[in-house]
Amino acid sequence: MSFADLPAELAAIEERGLKRHRRVLASPQGAHVVVDGRNVIAFCSNDYLGLAADPRLAAAASAGAARYGVGAGASHLILGHGAAHHALEEALARYVDLPRALLFSTGYMANMGVVTALIRRGDAVFADRLNHASLNDAALLSRADFKRYAHGDMAALERLLATSCARRKLVVSDAVFSMDGDLAPLPQMLALCERHDAWLLLDDAHGFGVLGASGGGVLQHFEVRSERIVYMATLGKAAGVFGAFVAAHGDVIEMLVQRARTYIYTTATPPMLAHALLTSLAIMASEGHRRAHLSKLIARLKQGVAGLPWSLLPSDTAIQPLVIGASAEALRVSSALEARGVLVPAIRPPTVPAGTARLRISLAAAHSEGDIEQLLRALHDVAVES
Ligand SMILES: *Cc1c(COP(=O)(O)O)cnc(C)c1O
Repeated sequence: MSFADLPAELAAIEERGLKRHRRVLASPQGAHVVVDGRNVIAFCSNDYLGLAADPRLAAAASAGAARYGVGAGASHLILGHGAAHHALEEALARYVDLPRALLFSTGYMANMGVVTALIRRGDAVFADRLNHASLNDAALLSRADFKRYAHGDMAALERLLATSCARRKLVVSDAVFSMDGDLAPLPQMLALCERHDAWLLLDDAHGFGVLGASGGGVLQHFEVRSERIVYMATLGKAAGVFGAFVAAHGDVIEMLVQRARTYIYTTATPPMLAHALLTSLAIMASEGHRRAHLSKLIARLKQGVAGLPWSLLPSDTAIQPLVIGASAEALRVSSALEARGVLVPAIRPPTVPAGTARLRISLAAAHSEGDIEQLLRALHDVAVES
C-alpha cells in the first residue's frame, strides 16, 4: 500500500484548473468580513437572514452551555437526547406545520438517513439532475434503482414514474436549487406523486426561513400539504446555527428513529445549539422585516444588472447566478471583483453544465442597499475591462 500516486493525481487536478483552496475567515459571518487578512464585502454565505453572528443567538448559546454543558455525551437513543433537543423538535414541527420533527446533526446526514431508512434494493429513487450531492449519495447508498431526470422536467419524471414497477417509489428534490436559485415545481411534482403512488422528499436547505410569509419554507410558499411529503431543512443556513431536521407524518418520523443510521450511530448535537435554535426560530418568526429587506435587495440587483454583458438566471430567491459562460472568464471576473474588495465565488463545470460558468451571488438580509450598489458598480467596471 502506498500513496505514491497521489502527487500525480493532485497535479492533474491543478493542471485542469480545478484545485480548490480554503480561505481563512477571521471575523464572524456577515456582509462585511475579514478574509485572509483583508476587509471585503462577501456575497457567498448561506446566512440569508443575517443571524449567524446575531448577539442574541450567541447569548442563547452560552446560556444553553451554562445550563446543559457543552457536549451531549451520547447518541439520542442512549442518553444524549436532552430537553433542549426535545423542545426544539416540537418547535420545528409547529414552525413548518407538520405532525412531528426529528433533529439530525447535519443536512448531509439527514438526507442519508431518510433515504436509506425508507428505501432499499428493489425500490426506486427519482431525482432531479441538479439535486444536492447529499441526495445523490443517499440514493446510491440505498441500493435502490436510481433514476435521474433533466432539471425541472416534469414530463420526464412522469414517464419514469409511469414505467417503474418498483415496490416503493421516492421522488427526491431540492426545493430551491442551490446553483440556480430556482424553485422545484412543487404542486406539479406532488400531483405526479399522488398519481403514481410515490413519496416526495423535499430538501428545503435554501428555503426554510426565507420562503413563505413567516419563513415556513417551500410548503408555506406554495401552500401545499400532503402526507406523502417528507420535509428536510437545514439549520446552518437561514436559521444561522447548525444542524438539520426532518418533518413528516408521525409514522415516518418513528421509522427514522428506529432505522436512520445517521441518526442512531452518532453523538447528539451539543444541546447549547438546540437551545440557541429556539431563539433563532423566535427571531425568524417575529422579524419578517429581514425577509422583506432581502426581497428588496433581490429586486435591486435584478434591476441593476441591466446593461451588463452577462445575465442573471431566472430566480426570485437569495441565490442569484450571473452566467458568464467560459470558466476562465468567470474566474477572471471573480478575481477582478475580489481586487475591488467584493467577494463572489465563480462556480464552474462540473458543478454546473459546460458553458454556464457563473458567479453565484448570494444575498442576505445583512447586506445594505449600499453593499448592492458597490457590487453593481464593481460588476459594471469589470465588464468594461473585458
Ligand atoms: C447545505 C445543503 C445540504 C447539507 O446541509 P448541511 O447541514 O450543511 O450538511 C443539503 N442539501 C442542500 C440543498 C444544501 O444546500
